Amino acid sequence: DILISQIAAGEVIERPASAIKELLENALDAGATQIEIRIEEGGLRRLQIIDNGRGIAREQLPLALTRHATSKIASLADLERVTSLGFRGEALASMAAVSRLTLASRPASAEHGWKVDVQPGREAPPAEPAAVPPGTVIEVIDLFSATPARRKFLKSPTTEAAYCLDVIRRIALSHPDVQFVVHQDGKEIRRWPATTPRQRIETLVGDGGAGGNRLLPVSAQAGPLTLEGLLGTPDAARARSDRQYLFVNGRFVRDRMLAQAIRQAYRDRLHGERYPVFALFLTIDPTLVDANVHPAKTEVRFRDPAAVRHLVFHAVENALGTALP
Ligand code: ADP
Ligand code: MG
Repeated sequence: DILISQIAAGEVIERPASAIKELLENALDAGATQIEIRIEEGGLRRLQIIDNGRGIAREQLPLALTRHATSKIASLADLERVTSLGFRGEALASMAAVSRLTLASRPASAEHGWKVDVQPGREAPPAEPAAVPPGTVIEVIDLFSATPARRKFLKSPTTEAAYCLDVIRRIALSHPDVQFVVHQDGKEIRRWPATTPRQRIETLVGDGGAGGNRLLPVSAQAGPLTLEGLLGTPDAARARSDRQYLFVNGRFVRDRMLAQAIRQAYRDRLHGERYPVFALFLTIDPTLVDANVHPAKTEVRFRDPAAVRHLVFHAVENALGTALP
């Protein structure tokens, strides 16, 4: 039983960064406006996420840790139009299978919170009262310590911490109205207060405006598709593939077709191989895109890829056109 849950867990939780992604999505689904993240030893020793979201009531705590239990979907029909980031009810159960997990939570209306401390692969013990502010605190301790095979595939703590930060950056980009504070090994390394989408992108994708790295606005619409965002200006173009962000309905995705379309637009306009920074947000009718792919994957399937490509290509071309002398 424990073995099966550990195998299943490996699919969702591959490394500390995948745990962070799931935990942040849960905090956002709970309506948090302030999220604090603590990463120790690349997240392998300890990951902690503190949010000020709506919390979990005492009677829901055991359910939150149960596989395939989700509070976000009530029927199969809901699956078609899911708007929450999570809906499989797998993440917490998977983490509890491969780490020691503590969960403390308090809805704002409750007098105090409740806490459970689950040993790796064991059943959750009864909840105990806990003095916590409204919201949720989740700690993932000694991730994969009981599954050395999994641990062997991980990189150094420094690299794992960098992967964690990549994930946090992506999520922060698509949630500018939420404050994120990141601590690494006891030190605060990032603080992004709630702000406008433009300012958040400038902070995370540009250089905050300091180096004159002007970002051009992109805005286009065609039928059920809209595209908004910012592109690096030609003169400020830096080949930084780690600063290229595409979001579909708020989710970070990698899409070769669209990456190629953007590169092509730059090439046509600038006659060079420059492929600079960007953060683009595509909004599309959810029924025209398949979101029900594997949770750890970052690809999407569009029902009409050509229409999406067309919009993105021309929007980028237009934005670059206005920047040319
Ligand atoms: P899913 O997000 O797919 O529902 P999870 O395993 O990630 O599954 O979480 C299980 C349940 O625990 C969620 O449906 C939600 O009710 C609750 N939960 C988890 N994290 C939080 C949080 N930070 N704040 C409030 N509720 C949470
Ligand atoms: Mg979830």
